[in-house]
Amino acid sequence: MRAVVVGAGIGGLLAARVLAEHGALVTILERDNGPAGDGHRSGVPQARHSHALLAAGANVVEDLFPGLREELIELGAPLFDLGESGRVLFPTGWAPLTDIGVPVQTFTRAALENLLRARVLALPEVTLRQDFSVEGLHLIGGEVRGVHGPSETVHADLVVVASGRTARLSKWLTEAGYDVPADIVVDSNMSYASRVASIPTDADQGWSTNNELTYAPDVRRGGVVNRVEANKWQITLIGASGERPPVDDEGFLAYARSLRNSAIAECVATAPSEEATYRFVGLNNRWTPYHRMNRWPDRLLCLGDAVCVLNPVYGQGMTVVALQAKVLHQVLSRNRDLSAVVAKFRRRSANVLRMPWIVATSADAAWTADEQPWTARVSQWYFDQIVRLIPTHPAVYRRFGMVAQMLSGPGSLLHPSVVWPVIRSAVARRSEPRRSAAFP
Ligand SMILES: Cc1cc2nc3c(=O)[nH]c(=O)nc-3n(C[C@H](O)[C@H](O)[C@H](O)COP(=O)(O)OP(=O)(O)OC[C@H]3O[C@@H](n4cnc5c(N)ncnc54)[C@H](O)[C@@H]3O)c2cc1C
Repeated sequence: MRAVVVGAGIGGLLAARVLAEHGALVTILERDNGPAGDGHRSGVPQARHSHALLAAGANVVEDLFPGLREELIELGAPLFDLGESGRVLFPTGWAPLTDIGVPVQTFTRAALENLLRARVLALPEVTLRQDFSVEGLHLIGGEVRGVHGPSETVHADLVVVASGRTARLSKWLTEAGYDVPADIVVDSNMSYASRVASIPTDADQGWSTNNELTYAPDVRRGGVVNRVEANKWQITLIGASGERPPVDDEGFLAYARSLRNSAIAECVATAPSEEATYRFVGLNNRWTPYHRMNRWPDRLLCLGDAVCVLNPVYGQGMTVVALQAKVLHQVLSRNRDLSAVVAKFRRRSANVLRMPWIVATSADAAWTADEQPWTARVSQWYFDQIVRLIPTHPAVYRRFGMVAQMLSGPGSLLHPSVVWPVIRSAVARRSEPRRSAAFP
């Protein structure tokens, strides 16, 4: 089988790895030529910003590329327990400082992608063609037979579109006469400003990640400092609901100082940036529900941001695409017929998206003043109670951490070990004199 993968980002590389294992000769077509000397390329401007690979995604990546975690450690990317080496400030206080059994590794997105790329290109079945911008699908009678570039058509038995958040798939399908449903959008109008700086030699190294979380509807400013490879800090300041962290040195420091977590400003002040500060604005949640289309071309798959972008503060994007690559592996293992592969992958990859979408959008819906359905208000209330408990309940924090890292589903927050403390604390507060609804 000849397969074409459009895009050499995280999803394209993982899909190529899976297809190669199943005997395909894979050509990855990538618009960019690079990466440049600093490890970055223009097709993934988001790589300048903090990229958390959630524990669930890290497990899939490690399964596909055994030893990758160790390679990252060799570059200097710390691997640690979130409770032990993570400082996380919630609107209700600090997360407990104790081992909660949730492993996390911090590194830049460029480091991860460059290692993945080297591993994938070492596979004899895979070829990368750079500087190749795919402009459309080569469709014959409802079947995709390849893709069109600016001056040539690349033929294939299977096409996987993994061209990220700027993908034109919906336009290509519409132009070919397919009925593409409208995008579902839940806006949080999030902005990131990020820089990388060398860690001063006298810095206190008691933590590997230090965060302040944005929290709808009141906490619109947040930040994160991750210790990453090569003894650097990646510092990201976050603004929600239209708040925009500045990129000039003075403004960046002032914004960091406006946070309650003073460690973030301390890092900004003591580690001058050696390169520009980059900003990404207007981040939202957007899903093109291709799985709802009754008519879909044969031999066409799509995954990752080309289908659904999620508000990055929840750190789910790369993990979702890793889980979709895992689904592709499972579907290819059980089906030889390509039509069956396409039909099953479409359904199951949409299922992968459902929970991350609900998690991101139900939290983000609270940024808007619109009246929410009662179900959303109840789940928001319950989540607020969990956030109230976290600073004093390590067991609750552990469950929260497992869910946040996608190691367990949100249903595990309904375990009696969480429900009972929630009820007890809600009842206790009812008997206290009434204060404002806002935290704490
Ligand atoms: C500011 C920001 C912060 C983020 N933080 C996190 C985080 O903490 N954790 C996390 O998991 N995710 C995060 N994400 C999301 C994450 O970047 C994506 O979910 C992930 O990269 C999706 O992978 P992908 O392969 O679908 O797309 P990408 O990795 O974006 O790759 C798409 C590739 O397709 C190429 N391409 C595009 N069009 C064409 C074309 N026509 N022809 C050929 N090639 C093409 C591009 O050049 C690119 O190489 C963040 C996103 C943003 C914007």
